[in-house]
Amino acid sequence: MNQVPAFAKEPQLLFINGRWLESSSQQYFEDVNPATEEVITNIAKATKKDVDFAVKSAQEAMRGNSWGGFSSKQRGKVIFKIAALLEKYKEEFATLETLDTGKTITESLYADIATSVDVLEYYAGCATKIEGTTLPTDSKFFTFTLKEPVGVVGCIVPWNFPLLLAVWKIAPALAAGNTVILKPSMMTPLTALRFAKLTEEAGLPPGVLNVLPGAGSEIGSYMVEHPGINKISFTGETQTGKEILAGSVDTLKRVTLELGGKSPNIIFKDADIEMASKGAFNAIFYNKGEVCCAGSRLFVERGVHADVITRLVERAGRTTPGDPLKQTTRLGPLISRSQLEKVQSYTETGKKEGAQLVIGGEKPKELLKGYYFKPTIFDGVRNDMKIAREEIFGPLLSVIEFEDFNDVITKSNDTFYGLAAGIWTRDVSKAIKASRALKAGTVWINCYNFFDASAPFGGYKQSGVGRELGLKGLDPYTELKTVWISTE
Ligand code: NAD
Repeated sequence: MNQVPAFAKEPQLLFINGRWLESSSQQYFEDVNPATEEVITNIAKATKKDVDFAVKSAQEAMRGNSWGGFSSKQRGKVIFKIAALLEKYKEEFATLETLDTGKTITESLYADIATSVDVLEYYAGCATKIEGTTLPTDSKFFTFTLKEPVGVVGCIVPWNFPLLLAVWKIAPALAAGNTVILKPSMMTPLTALRFAKLTEEAGLPPGVLNVLPGAGSEIGSYMVEHPGINKISFTGETQTGKEILAGSVDTLKRVTLELGGKSPNIIFKDADIEMASKGAFNAIFYNKGEVCCAGSRLFVERGVHADVITRLVERAGRTTPGDPLKQTTRLGPLISRSQLEKVQSYTETGKKEGAQLVIGGEKPKELLKGYYFKPTIFDGVRNDMKIAREEIFGPLLSVIEFEDFNDVITKSNDTFYGLAAGIWTRDVSKAIKASRALKAGTVWINCYNFFDASAPFGGYKQSGVGRELGLKGLDPYTELKTVWISTE
């Protein structure tokens, strides 16, 4: 399984209109493995001209003689086929994802790729269930609604879950009859391109899915402003989300945004402390903390604080970063040198702010190559410190002690983010009361980081606009048309 797939050994081209094409600039960029700092392969870098061609192709595919003429049943069948092929090639995809991101092979296989298959199957089934309604208007009329595709959808995704987050967008977009232009992050283009190849094999018509790796500041923003693109579905940083919203004003295109977070994870003293500590550890260190909903602010109630810290430190001590392609590794390298430097700089900030570094805070000395960083825990953090307020996006946990229920809810909500929250308690009433009080799009009780294709996900406040997954996740890919027929 861990051999480098042939796909990663070849330079890769752009996928437009069902063809593999050089960039119009003939330029390539280097795709780097964060575990070795070596170049995996070269990737064609898309230009604005390439985007124009992809838009034209995606528009043509919307016509009746192509994807636009497919029945919902036919669309569903193609998406089921894509899911089956992804299942068939899951080990190759998992290896590509690990090479590109540094996430462990276990995470790639059992989370990223397995969940991508689930999401494709879920929306394949939804294709035949997109329904309008009849409306109780005056009896002189027969009035009904239709749900139609929005058109050409631009999907712009980040590097932390490259294929999975692309599939969260592509699957509902295709189920609803749209065509797609996917722009992966330049740091992680491999699985998006391999996925394009897979869709050819599944019989997706040319132009329905186009994949263009390239710079966000160049082709990403161009896609946002492009009059031929009807909707943008974006996942990434909150600041980029704001730029995207601003850039979409002229064309008033539909926009959904999945953005950053600084999620509170609350351990009440009546919790099962071992379960809560283990859960809190995984909530931050899963995928090296490069998770939008990471439980990066851990609130622990006075009385159990020392016990929780001891358990967290013990776990961190035995979680040694290492080669992500090894089955036994639990923590891989960060995505890039700049991400590593960002986490190092926040570690210094935490110390300067007076928080107490209890473990980690450095690169493992024995790993000379690769962007590795030890699991890092700060205790004695105050909610107004930078390390408690800003999204770090790395393996750094801020532990904050709290006094009582009202204190922790106030502090938890004192952030401009609102993506997720966690609660650990044996008291059902308290859990329900807290889940109602927390301003977050997802609340996990006695668990963390669980996802399902049927469960909507998205942010309150500056963590996003709209929801992905579930039936709610289909709506942004449809336009609602109301039809009035006079019966007189
Ligand atoms: P990013 O915002 O830098 O980039 C995301 C994508 O947008 C990339 O493909 C990039 O090339 C493109 N882009 C950059 N500038 C652009 C612009 N001006 N116009 C259009 N496109 C542009 O984010 P990142 O560093 O790749 O990813 C990490 C961020 O993603 C974190 O903030 C994290 O919280 C967030 N995230 C959110 C979710 C969620 O579901 N809410 C999930 C995963 C990651």
